[in-house]
Amino acid sequence: MISRLHDPDFNRWACQIKRTGGCRQPIHLRGKVEHYDQLTGDLLHRYSTNIEPNGVLRVSCKTRRASRCPACAEVYRADTYQLVRAGLVGGKGVPETVNTHPCLFVTLTAPSFGVVHARREKNGKVLPCHARRDASPCPHGRVLSCTDRHSADDPRLGEPLCPDCYDYDGSVLFNAISPELWRRFTLALRRRFARLNGLTVKALREHVSIAFAKVAEYQRRGVVHFHAVIRLDGPDGPNTLPPAWATADALAQAVQHAAAAVTTEVKPLCRTFRWGTQLDSRQITMDGDLTDQAVAAYIAKYATKAAECVGTLDRRIQPLDDLNALPVREHARRLIAACMRLGSQPDLAELRLIHWAHMLGFRGHFSTKSRRYSTTLGALRAAREEHMRTEEITTGRFPLFEEDTVLVIAHWEYAGQGLSLSEQLLAAAITGVRLPQIGGDPQ
Ligand SMILES: [Zn+2]
Ligand SMILES: [Zn+2]
Ligand SMILES: [Zn+2]
Repeated sequence: MISRLHDPDFNRWACQIKRTGGCRQPIHLRGKVEHYDQLTGDLLHRYSTNIEPNGVLRVSCKTRRASRCPACAEVYRADTYQLVRAGLVGGKGVPETVNTHPCLFVTLTAPSFGVVHARREKNGKVLPCHARRDASPCPHGRVLSCTDRHSADDPRLGEPLCPDCYDYDGSVLFNAISPELWRRFTLALRRRFARLNGLTVKALREHVSIAFAKVAEYQRRGVVHFHAVIRLDGPDGPNTLPPAWATADALAQAVQHAAAAVTTEVKPLCRTFRWGTQLDSRQITMDGDLTDQAVAAYIAKYATKAAECVGTLDRRIQPLDDLNALPVREHARRLIAACMRLGSQPDLAELRLIHWAHMLGFRGHFSTKSRRYSTTLGALRAAREEHMRTEEITTGRFPLFEEDTVLVIAHWEYAGQGLSLSEQLLAAAITGVRLPQIGGDPQ
């Protein structure tokens, strides 16, 4: 740390670290950018990482996952919030009139794969977990009853009352097919909404389009469910009003029907999956119980979480890894083992369960949206980078050129990632970002 502090390049290093916004694992790039005049071939400007400390430029890792880099995940969360919010109240290129379009917040859950410890509350009082006075023992001799009132941080939450009865295969298969189940749900929703209004799907398209934004969330038991914003637009997306007959009530009815109707099969195992019976569908309003702000914040919160909050690993699991040695809870270990076992079955190869074992079988995107919902994360990122570039120009780093008269030749290579322990301390002091705990994240 002392040698870094006394290094003549310290200010330049600190400046780079500041620009990464407190990234925990910045990526090191080695390379150069050259600007040439298209007409004369003159070199107008050259930047090379040779002049940087250790010959590398440090840029932020841009991860989505808070367990890997809190600072970059926070940027992602804020972007997701803006993206979801723009779809509800306008902004970022979406007209403000979208706030008058009928809009629902829908939660689609997974079915039950066995009884798990749960914390339930009623009128602020915690209820007994799963009290069954007359429960007979399961085939493994366990009585499937639990009268405990679990605290919110009880590690048993989400774990089965009898692990030997629990359907681990079903749980990971559901995670694996859930993106397809979601896709079928959106198709069935359009079909049902058209029929409710006496139209074909094709005819509906001339009057109404249905826009979606959704996130996946892991429940404690290790299975994903989805939260979605579903909005009715006119035929040309958010810029056009939906007709008066396209109401939130009709949409809610179609959601109920479609959620109950769709199924997805895992043919080699003759198993059929559908959504759980717990369907939540509520109208989003500008004031009242469920506001646009609350929904956007809720969706954005889940956008930075992955399966590690269930207590599984933050990295891929290799086929040769000793599952018994993995630092995970028994429930997660059994889910991972189910992925490894089913994944080695040739007729299930397309589910890629081994590749996604650390995600407990889920290989979908965490946050997705239909094309016309609102702006994109890419557009938000581009806007921010443009802002950074303008800043660089004003600080004299890059001179201003006319884009179409200048030839830009860039060459970059990856030169590593991360910060040493002493660099982490210095970076925390420079950026004011909380230090990672030595020895990894708390589960
Ligand atoms: Zn980062
Ligand atoms: Zn319990
Ligand atoms: Zn049992």
